[in-house]
Amino acid sequence: AVDFTFAGQTRVLTVSNQKGGVGKTTTTVNIAASLASLGARVLVIDLDPQGNASTALGVPHTADIPSVYDVLIDDFPLAEIIQTSPESPNLFCAPSTIHLAGAEIELVSQVAREHRLRTALDEYLGTLESPLDFVLIDCPPSLGLLTINAFTAAHELLIPIQCEYYALEGLSQLLGTVRMIQKHLNPTLSLSTILLTMYDGRTRLAQQVADEVRQHFPAEVLDTLIPRSVRVSEAPSFGQTVIAYDGQSAGAVAYREAAVEIVRRGELAEGPGKGTAPNQ
Ligand code: ADP
Ligand code: MG
Repeated sequence: AVDFTFAGQTRVLTVSNQKGGVGKTTTTVNIAASLASLGARVLVIDLDPQGNASTALGVPHTADIPSVYDVLIDDFPLAEIIQTSPESPNLFCAPSTIHLAGAEIELVSQVAREHRLRTALDEYLGTLESPLDFVLIDCPPSLGLLTINAFTAAHELLIPIQCEYYALEGLSQLLGTVRMIQKHLNPTLSLSTILLTMYDGRTRLAQQVADEVRQHFPAEVLDTLIPRSVRVSEAPSFGQTVIAYDGQSAGAVAYREAAVEIVRRGELAEGPGKGTAPNQ
């Protein structure tokens, strides 16, 4: 096993791709659970009105529960909505409820509408006695104001890409939005990580897609591929991540490896002597 000590700054990653069904939510919750299992303190912010990340983390998110909606629209402090996942005492979730579906429209008339999540997050992080190591934001499948709030609040962008037809379709639109955000709202946002998901090594197509993405983004694509696995897709119906549901399954092993890569790349980016120290 690999032990990490997390002593660096909070890394805020937004998991985004405006295509639906590419593995954003699955990646968010399983990377978060993997990081928590390595000893990191991790917050997942569920920005998708569907609330699938909240479900997978076993966190109640019925309409009566205070949620990200109340933070974005009614200025609730994040501390008032955050719940601890039953999966780990290090794993926290700011849940989404169905109310968030209206937020996209309601935000339009709000002051500082692109900065609301960032302001709430900065305030929250500033009050914590034991800092968070990671914040992962699960985005809805669109490039609307919810996603823009995520881009504005984050340091890093993690794009999951499904190894199937049209994998790269829509990517230039996403990157265009990222450049617009960098120019006007968040100059520190960087596309740090691409994760290939739902990989089926038996098909030539999956291999071709993986090769093509690696050619375009040699520095960003993680070595680890997430295989297509029934266990991964079963886990949410038990209100669990695959890390808790079947930690020995191929999907769980791959997500843990991807999480270790993400930690290591962060160390390299920070330079030697800072941040985390593996194998102590
Ligand atoms: P998104 O959040 O981008 O819409 P999801 O994470 O919800 O995508 O994934 C879409 C569907 O694919 C879900 O039903 C999920 O369970 C399934 N899925 C995601 N990753 C895998 C995988 N590695 N193996 C099998 N099924 C997967
Ligand atoms: Mg999703």
